[in-house]
Amino acid sequence: MIIEKIKSNRGFVDLCKCDYCDKEFYRIANQAERHKYQYCTYDCSVKAKIGSGNPNFGKHWDDKHKTILSIKAKKRTGEMSSNWKGGRIKRLDGYIAILKPNHPFADVKRRVMEHRLVMENYLKRYLKPEEQVHHINGIKDDNRIENLMLFASNSDHIKFHKEKELEYKCRMSTKNTLSSTNLIS
Ligand SMILES: [Zn+2]
Ligand SMILES: [Zn+2]
Repeated sequence: MIIEKIKSNRGFVDLCKCDYCDKEFYRIANQAERHKYQYCTYDCSVKAKIGSGNPNFGKHWDDKHKTILSIKAKKRTGEMSSNWKGGRIKRLDGYIAILKPNHPFADVKRRVMEHRLVMENYLKRYLKPEEQVHHINGIKDDNRIENLMLFASNSDHIKFHKEKELEYKCRMSTKNTLSSTNLIS
């Protein structure tokens, strides 16, 4: 089920709850709306569909079918991997962006800032669009977790820069939700 609509770079993202395992996850809005049920993983959708509530239960799940499904699942993992050639670029503004076509908060080029991904990996959840990641040493491509700091909002981030009288400027890593693109101007 869809819990909440959140504005993102590419329109809207839906915060969904998996109809099979109850886990919360994000989905690009037009994807979620096209489906009656929302599943967090391919695995959950398969498990839900082969459940005894399904009239096709036990009918179509022969070995041939299972092979096709596992190939599809593997393809998906391949797409989501950021390590493919050309998947990591250094932007003109100095930040690293990674190609992540399936990331709910990817930008129009299907990319996500690497420092946000590092923080997401560390927290084991997606960052909300309003959450901001700060580079402690000011080096924009130094994305070691030790160099990153998370702020709940852009204004908290600005406050921190002012209090610490930091000379360097951070740029907002996502254009969504807030109108200004430059954090400190
Ligand atoms: Zn699930
Ligand atoms: Zn900062």
